[in-house]
Amino acid sequence: MTFPPRTVVIVGAGIAGLSTAFHLAEKGVEKIIVLDKGKVGDGSSSKAGGIVTMLQQDEASIRARSRSLDIFERFSQILDGYTFHQVGCLNLFREHAFIESAPLRELQSSLGAEFLLLRGSELQDRFPDMCTSEDDYGVLDLRGGYSEPHRYIPALTTKVKELGVEIRENQALVGFDMNGSSVTGVVVKDMASSSTPSQDMTIKADAVICTVNAWANKVLSLAGYQIPMKNFIHERFVTKPFPTAPQLPAVNDNVKDGYFRPTDDNRLLLGTAAHNPNEFSISGPDFTFDELEPDPTALPFLKDTFVDRLPLLSEAEWDYHKVGLISFAMDANPVLGPIPGIGNFYVGVNFHSGGFGYNPVAGMLLSEYAVVGETSIDVESFRPERFSKIDTGAYLSEPRTHHEMGIKRH
Ligand SMILES: Cc1cc2nc3c(=O)[nH]c(=O)nc-3n(C[C@H](O)[C@H](O)[C@H](O)COP(=O)(O)OP(=O)(O)OC[C@H]3O[C@@H](n4cnc5c(N)ncnc54)[C@H](O)[C@@H]3O)c2cc1C
Repeated sequence: MTFPPRTVVIVGAGIAGLSTAFHLAEKGVEKIIVLDKGKVGDGSSSKAGGIVTMLQQDEASIRARSRSLDIFERFSQILDGYTFHQVGCLNLFREHAFIESAPLRELQSSLGAEFLLLRGSELQDRFPDMCTSEDDYGVLDLRGGYSEPHRYIPALTTKVKELGVEIRENQALVGFDMNGSSVTGVVVKDMASSSTPSQDMTIKADAVICTVNAWANKVLSLAGYQIPMKNFIHERFVTKPFPTAPQLPAVNDNVKDGYFRPTDDNRLLLGTAAHNPNEFSISGPDFTFDELEPDPTALPFLKDTFVDRLPLLSEAEWDYHKVGLISFAMDANPVLGPIPGIGNFYVGVNFHSGGFGYNPVAGMLLSEYAVVGETSIDVESFRPERFSKIDTGAYLSEPRTHHEMGIKRH
């Protein structure tokens, strides 16, 4: 290993790759190249609801999200055209789930989470555009909120370019340059040249970081590695603007099995994966989200499910919708760290439906692994080596539903 590396190639120009480039540049890495087989943000990043809370289910994830919130707050100051909307993130439960999660709240609180407990009419008094009953229990993360992906992605892209990062679009990784068991570069194909097949090109690098999320196994298998993971289709919908801003925080509604939030231009955004539970296999390395079929039952499902919660929906006109993939490792934790047995090679993928919330800290952690070889917070439980005793081939061949992965909210 070369610490610190002079040249780092990042594969995947979604928010995880861009954030990694930002943190590497801040750490003084000389040459940083970000490759994408399509355009910046073409993957799930531009489809995200952008909701974030630090009220996660285990210590590593809570600590990680807390750092993400610090960075979102900072980005709100330093990225032109981007605002972190810190309207709070409300997590709604039924009574039994609320009571069961009391020990978890103690852990969250001990790790710095700031939240309010609200029930029934207290919720409605605070957020008049939401209907709740006395059976609804809320935990309002006061530091949570949302970002608009269509503002965040261009703002972060501009910032990393200002810092000297080179972004190469339409450049697909098709192989690795190896010296023994260490990666020494990437082999890249130009996807833009249509008529004559282009010559593959090798880019030498001291470290390679793979942030391709749903495509992880298509890329990692080129170096002989695979993650026990599953992908699922996920859709979200946006209404036309209302005359005034909906009085709402960002909401993870565990009662209705979905989420919603206001937008920065007075709309409502809603999403769920509940209507579409089966795993989705991507066809090959060239797969793009244009191949995803929107599910015709998704919008009727959302309207029926949420109209009681959000009376504004009864008069809403729907404007547009996004479909993408969410990607789960078998234990539904992110996979982030050095690839076992392969030198100079790191991965940051499988952020379940919470990759927007993780991306600032994911970039920070990946840059720390690449530059100093260790992280400033304990995220051992994210490292890929936790799967070393798993029969990954067998896991990949068995179908799973989204519910079997354990629903994880943003
Ligand atoms: C509808 C929807 C709503 C969501 N809502 C939320 C939310 O509210 N909050 C939240 O926290 N998360 C949310 N998520 C999850 C979040 O969007 C993702 O976890 C996150 O965007 C993943 O970012 P990424 O950069 O890791 O991956 P991606 O954005 O998918 O980027 C991966 C990139 O890798 C590129 N790539 C693939 N193969 C190659 C190759 N061979 N060579 C070069 N490039 C390659 C792809 O073109 C792609 O651009 C949502 C997801 C969806 C689909």
